[in-house]
Amino acid sequence: MKPEATPSRFGVYVHFPYCLSKCPYCDFASVVAERIPHERYARAVVRELEGRAQEYGRRGVESVYFGGGTPSLWEPECVATVLRAVDELFGLLPGCEITLEANPGASDAARFEAYLEAGVNRLSIGIQSFSAPVLAGLGRRHGPEEAIRAVETARRAGFENVSVDLIFGGPHQDVRGAVEDARRAVELGPDHVSCYGLTLENLAEDVRLAKEVRRGRVKVADDDLQAEMGERVRDVLRAAGYHRYEISNYATPGFESRHNTLYWVGHEWVAAGCGAHGFRRLEDGRGLRYANPRKPDAYLTAVETGAAPEIEREVLEPAALFEERIFLGLRLARGVDLEAAARETIGEVPARLWEAVDELARAGLVARRGSVVACTDRGLDFHTEVALRLLP
Ligand code: SF4
Repeated sequence: MKPEATPSRFGVYVHFPYCLSKCPYCDFASVVAERIPHERYARAVVRELEGRAQEYGRRGVESVYFGGGTPSLWEPECVATVLRAVDELFGLLPGCEITLEANPGASDAARFEAYLEAGVNRLSIGIQSFSAPVLAGLGRRHGPEEAIRAVETARRAGFENVSVDLIFGGPHQDVRGAVEDARRAVELGPDHVSCYGLTLENLAEDVRLAKEVRRGRVKVADDDLQAEMGERVRDVLRAAGYHRYEISNYATPGFESRHNTLYWVGHEWVAAGCGAHGFRRLEDGRGLRYANPRKPDAYLTAVETGAAPEIEREVLEPAALFEERIFLGLRLARGVDLEAAARETIGEVPARLWEAVDELARAGLVARRGSVVACTDRGLDFHTEVALRLLP
């Protein structure tokens, strides 16, 4: 069967790399700057978006995501400037989800109101924990009170869509502590909770906490303990009405993150800012992924001198796109429609894939409804292993 293209949905990712301090577990493109070049960075992002618009064309934007770094350090006027440019260049669709990541240490009422005024309608607040020793162990500068205040301030400012992030398995945390964090998070009534186990593997060499753990100077939860924490945290979130729609993400009905879902189901997004990665479908059925330099200075210089601010550009063949659709689609509790994914990429689902699906179903790791394959709750915990069994 010949592959058929289906219309792609479209989002915009903007990376803001500056932070007040560098957390010792952080491997994101983030830096601490003596002075943040607010306007210069906004001008560069707009200029990059103008260039990218030539490649992507005018598209209806259904989600914009300001990630970081700490985007809540960015002057609201700069966020407004970027959003105006996105609207002019691509066109914001009615009801577009516009998310900004906020740090409890940088979240006063006037700032939140100004973001809302600029068009941001969803805040994702990096609480991580409500325990002072755990926050200290993660190198976070905020305390539990600031975390609570940030959510309350967001609500008072008028945000009707608030997400909080938690990390479990870090230094000084036991199962009871992880459960307590989840309880305190749901008490604040967020619409969405992202809850990640601390990961220190496959990070850059210089990630401080990873080094300390390797040297035996700091202890974090091992895999079994982290799995137990995950299970208990899930129970708390479920009992409070949050459904697990992705491996690490929970939402009340209708509040699943639209932005991340675009990534997981193979749609397109334009990305701007240092360290940002974008994806575009090509007319011949292949895909194109690009990555910008991680260092803000390199990024700013490239954009300002009119050079393409990319350090990587990779063309993905249909077979690679199909594999990616399986790998990412299986992150979602609703699963992936293998026939639809094959139709848009390689044409037909290879017969051996159905055999592998049946085998995984017998092991209780996936469930199949027609051509849709979804991980069971247990399967989600072993997502990588399950997905690898389905890939060639
Ligand atoms: S606030 Fe976030 S992006 Fe910044 S250093 Fe900490 S973990 Fe990294």
